[in-house]
Amino acid sequence: MRKGLLVVLSVLTASVLLAQSPHKGRAADELSSAHLPGPAIAAMQTINPEHIRQHVRFLSHDLLEGRGTGQRGGDIAAEYIATQFALYGLKPMGDKGTYLQKVPMVGITPDPATTFTFVSASGTSTDLKPLDEYVGYDQTQQHESDVDANIVYVGYGIEAPEYNWDDYKGVDVKGKVLLMLVNEPTSDDPKFFKGRALTYYGRWTYKYEEAARKGAVGVILIHKTEMASYPWEVVRNSNSGEKSYLKLDGTPKLKVASWVQLDVARELAKASGLNVEKMMADALSRDFHPVSLPVKLKAHMVSKVRPFESNNVVGMLPGTDAKLKDEAVLYTAHYDHLGIRPDMPGDNIYNGAEDNATGCGIILELARVFGQAAEKPRRSLLFASVTAEEQGLLGSEYLGKHPPIAAGKIALDLNYDDIPPIGSPQEVEVSGAERTTFYPTVEAVAKEFRLVIRPDAQPEAGHYYRSDHFSLARVGIPSFSVNSGMKYKGHDEAWGLEQAEEYTTKHYHQPSDEYHESMDFTADAVMARFGFALGWEAASQANVAGWQKGDEFEAARVK
Ligand SMILES: [Zn+2]
Repeated sequence: MRKGLLVVLSVLTASVLLAQSPHKGRAADELSSAHLPGPAIAAMQTINPEHIRQHVRFLSHDLLEGRGTGQRGGDIAAEYIATQFALYGLKPMGDKGTYLQKVPMVGITPDPATTFTFVSASGTSTDLKPLDEYVGYDQTQQHESDVDANIVYVGYGIEAPEYNWDDYKGVDVKGKVLLMLVNEPTSDDPKFFKGRALTYYGRWTYKYEEAARKGAVGVILIHKTEMASYPWEVVRNSNSGEKSYLKLDGTPKLKVASWVQLDVARELAKASGLNVEKMMADALSRDFHPVSLPVKLKAHMVSKVRPFESNNVVGMLPGTDAKLKDEAVLYTAHYDHLGIRPDMPGDNIYNGAEDNATGCGIILELARVFGQAAEKPRRSLLFASVTAEEQGLLGSEYLGKHPPIAAGKIALDLNYDDIPPIGSPQEVEVSGAERTTFYPTVEAVAKEFRLVIRPDAQPEAGHYYRSDHFSLARVGIPSFSVNSGMKYKGHDEAWGLEQAEEYTTKHYHQPSDEYHESMDFTADAVMARFGFALGWEAASQANVAGWQKGDEFEAARVK
């Protein structure tokens, strides 16, 4: 997934005006950072776009069958990356002295024998139709489980002490099914749920997690297009067929993790003597209190459960300082993609050249250059190519829960995902970096590189929570992705936006995301150099970075 790509059109209309400095002197693709010592600059200059090209060419080859998670092609990609790590002299940081960290997963497919029924106090029952009216998964990874529980409406289902917001108000929801809204209370006040920007509290993943933590057995999310920012078809498509999860690890899970259509919620409210619009309006108040409905959910969940495994690939270059080498800067890029669809006629291999062989090529080139540098930074450098990003950031979630060194000792994570090989960039996107205390360094390095920092065009879409760096942020590590913006040398911004739009509509998550000889990996090399300089700085600074005061990830860092 590439952050921001799906919003290209709205960017076009917004036409963000950036204070662009005139490009005098050196161009971004031939720059060095004045802060770095000579040997570091020398190493950085050897970052070679043609090396990145070769990695991309191989990793997106048809023979790798789209690098599906838990599939042969994905495993070959992992072995290829592990082999490169070994050749560059990285220390293996996976299981049993290898580069591979096993990630145990299960695939869950809802079985047609599943039933999902509302039962009113008077005994009237209403069966819901799968996909058309509801979607639901049993997160407890059982073949069969049963729910027969009262439904409690909990508004947005958010408990956020830092915003003085609590939809639960201490009500015991153990064993209940919670009906709730997606997104978060609306506001323009940047101090209240970050104003227009979406915080993690607004994501459906948070809502499931919070409900399970409170002992609820099920969640029913009410889908409303304007609130979710995507139509029911998206919910339906991403909730049909097999879905992958990390194997149970003691984290509380829901027997019913579900969505219903707005019309279904409307009927449910009516049957309870309520009005769904009024319920939604009530949820906007800080004084909202949970409402018990006189209706039960009776569900018989039947699932096909398929255990499988895949691997993260992890290596390390030890730092030179006797003490600081216990700390590290982490580089991440997912290697998995969507695999192959045997039932699809014609080209059915999802090669994933841009998404994300490019990111892999970049961290491989970084590993090589750091490995060969005449001088190494004081802190260690970790390189992790993670699996199952396309399955919901699962490989990085596992890495965050099982980091090769303690999360508190990881100074920074720089993630690469889907870096367009289309020339020489004059902008960089580092959304989320501004939330960390490392941001002044990011700004200084960007300036050195004559790269203009391009702001997130659509913070309300919550892209920050949809890429691998988020998994590391959740365990407190200051993390963000590095990508090129929309402005390239020799072209105007409209050209860049056009390229992005064409990629999104014609190639993103399609078999045509393939390698072409004509690709220009200058951009990828510039982003690699930029990340090299950032990583070197973070690995050399006196103090490790943290989150800005009050940030939602600050607590995890302090812990
Ligand atoms: Zn991706």
